[in-house]
Amino acid sequence: MALRRGFKSEAERIVRRVQTEIGLSAADPIPPERVAELLGIEVIAGDELLPRQRFVELHNIQPDAFSACTLRPSPDRVVIVHNPLSSESRQNSDVAHELAHTLLDHELSRVQRLGDVTFLSCDPIQEEEAAWLSGCLLLPRALLLAEVRRGAEVKVIAQKHGVSERMAQYRLDVTGVVRQNQAAMKKTLQDLSIQVRL
Ligand SMILES: [Zn+2]
Repeated sequence: MALRRGFKSEAERIVRRVQTEIGLSAADPIPPERVAELLGIEVIAGDELLPRQRFVELHNIQPDAFSACTLRPSPDRVVIVHNPLSSESRQNSDVAHELAHTLLDHELSRVQRLGDVTFLSCDPIQEEEAAWLSGCLLLPRALLLAEVRRGAEVKVIAQKHGVSERMAQYRLDVTGVVRQNQAAMKKTLQDLSIQVRL
């Protein structure tokens, strides 16, 4: 399924707006907890609410079944609950995904049940939009470009920003920052060689 026209630019604008509201520049990383704070959302690890064993059982029924969910226990309270068993990079990614849903004003529409755990999920288009926006939140374009200019490798970018290498590589690919950097480099070399000859 393709994202609707203009959505990617909209996502960049949302990210920039979030950064501005938090007081960050375009190339700054965005700590998910600051976004949550900005939106008035509580972020809780699942085992603060239920015994950790419950998540182990869930994992045994279906690995990867539960990543995170957004709950509204009351009209003025929004809570993101994430899987306590996930790696840190996965948790960051899952929380960013949930924050993206809120930033995009997605309805928490469908109630799903797995085992005896109830959670909410959204429609496929909204899922895709949230996936894209969360990637932008985790690794904003300007930040990636700055990293590439510094010569940082995928592994380093992933570690530094608490994401998986897969996510870092994906963002490098879809933003085209490597290409952009190479083009800029080529231009500089051309200009240098012209200047040298003058
Ligand atoms: Zn989602």
